[in-house]
Amino acid sequence: MNIAVLIKQVPRTDKIKIDKEKGTLIRKGVESILNPYCEYALETACLIKKQIKNTKITVITMGPPNAKAVIERAVALGADEGVILSDRAFAGSDCRATAYALACGIKKACGIPEIILCGRQAIDGDTAQVPGETAQMLGIPMIPYITEIINVSERSLTVKSEFDNKELVLSAEFPVLLTVRKGSNNRRMPSLNDAFRAFSYEPKIMNAEDAGCDREKLGLSGSPTRVVKIVPVAAKGNCHFFDSADCEEGLSEIGKILSEKQK
Ligand code: FAD
Repeated sequence: MNIAVLIKQVPRTDKIKIDKEKGTLIRKGVESILNPYCEYALETACLIKKQIKNTKITVITMGPPNAKAVIERAVALGADEGVILSDRAFAGSDCRATAYALACGIKKACGIPEIILCGRQAIDGDTAQVPGETAQMLGIPMIPYITEIINVSERSLTVKSEFDNKELVLSAEFPVLLTVRKGSNNRRMPSLNDAFRAFSYEPKIMNAEDAGCDREKLGLSGSPTRVVKIVPVAAKGNCHFFDSADCEEGLSEIGKILSEKQK
């Protein structure tokens, strides 16, 4: 079985600052990491590999050449192959152009794999749009927000999916794309041996031509949307804390605040 896992290199969002004048993110000097949700997706692939013999896991990322670091981490955690889609033509891509590049890259790297796994969202862009758009471009179904693989065979799987406080049990025949939620499994540290092995791993680099992309559908020319400005949202209002175990007392305090506001 072939599994492709889409992994994204993201800046540590807890360290990133915003240039208020330019309305852009200040990425300089900020450490890059493997998107945590993509790590859950990769771990899901590793759990499936344990159950289905002859499973190959290919991780694919679109990013600059230094995205090699996230491929290395993925290989240390259990991926068999890694591909970086890297070309200036990809710069400025919005979600649709990103999904197009990834769909082309997947087809070149492993045809249409039985399973494609993605994180539920990237912690920087945060749109959660790329997986659905990739599935649509490949013409395959998607199950979002999975929390558990209930069972998997060589032809199909059944999963638990959770959204809007509802839990669904869904089955699909392959091929299928899944997005993986936090808490669906445990993130883990690679062993020292695996980390050393991954350090000498050389990922396959594909440019736009290698991936079979139409350049017009990439970057700014292939992006129907634009980020005009990024504005930090200032916290509004004050937070009131009541240090009391008495619920009645708390409710009466809230009542007082609300009646003050109505005056
Ligand atoms: P999500 O959809 O939240 O990611 C979900 C999952 O999809 C990830 O967990 C991962 O599995 C997969 N995935 C997403 N991106 C990748 C990837 N690159 N490689 C592998 N897997 C991936 N960025 C720029 O650098 N320059 C721009 O000019 C620019 N313009 C933009 C304009 C708009 C309107 C928008 C919405 C975004 C723009 N971006 C730009 C950001 C860029 O499009 C996003 O980084 C990219 O589309 C991924 O979206 P996301 O981060 O929201 O991923």
